[in-house]
Order: sequence, then structure tokens, then C-alpha cells
Amino acid sequence: MILLVHMLFGAALGSAIPNPFLGGILAFLGHYFLDLFPHIEYSIDNIRSKKWQKAFPDILKVCLDFSLAIVMIFLFSKNQPIIYLGSLIAIIPDGLTIITSIFPKFLKRHNIVHTEKIHYLTKQKKFPLSVRILSQVLTGMLSIALLRYFNYFE
Ligand SMILES: [Zn+2]
Repeated sequence: MILLVHMLFGAALGSAIPNPFLGGILAFLGHYFLDLFPHIEYSIDNIRSKKWQKAFPDILKVCLDFSLAIVMIFLFSKNQPIIYLGSLIAIIPDGLTIITSIFPKFLKRHNIVHTEKIHYLTKQKKFPLSVRILSQVLTGMLSIALLRYFNYFE
């Protein structure tokens, strides 16, 4: 899934679970849980293939995605550090995969599990585009609802 959805979900877990250690572990594992659902992703092929001159639009997409998540968390939460921590921990698996694509020997096994096994339903391409978009929209909306609930109605 895109960073925005992962970060909103991580932020929701960060606000729902008062224990930072447990919240951090769940935010990390929550990434893999969300990736189980069929979804679309934007291409970061140029970053993967180290075509740095062509990679600019890819890097821009990642930065916009990340910034939008930070703005939304700022708007929808009480802005405690633990909420931002949850959102950052939630994107560590994608960070590890990017490092593996630049340095192929680094965490190779993690990369196979993350991008092949966990993304199985997405890779199969059996699900129509609408389903793969809807899965992210619904997860994003649910995360915002949880974020608001745990920040304003406790
Ligand atoms: Zn992922």
C-alpha cells in the first residue's frame, strides 16, 4: 500500500495503544497486515534500478505521499510524539525494501517475504483496479476514523 495509508494506520495504532513498545511492534506488524490485501502501488522502478536521473518523479511521489500523511496526522490527531512514532515505524518495512533494492544482499529474505509472499494477492492481478483502489481508500478512511476516535473521544 502507499505510504499515506500505512502511516495513517500506524498513527491510529500509536494513539490507540498507550504502551509505546507494544504500539511500535503492532505498527510494524500492521504494515505487513495491510499489504496482505490486494492494492495498487505507484512505481519506484527507477529508484530500484538506480536510474537516478529518471528517479526524480519517483522520489517526488514518495515525498508528496509522506508529506500528505504528516499533514493529515497533524490535522486529525492530538500530535503526541507517539502518534508520529507509530506512523514512522509503520513504513520501516518499505524502507528496508528500498535499501534491499539499492544493496541487493541486504535483508534479501525479508524482501522476498515482504514483496512476494505478503503481496501475493496484489501480484496475482486477479482483482480489478477498482477493488485495489477501494481497499486503500477504505483502510485510509478507517485509519482516520480511528485516529479521530482515539484523539478526541477518550
Ligand atoms: Zn509494504
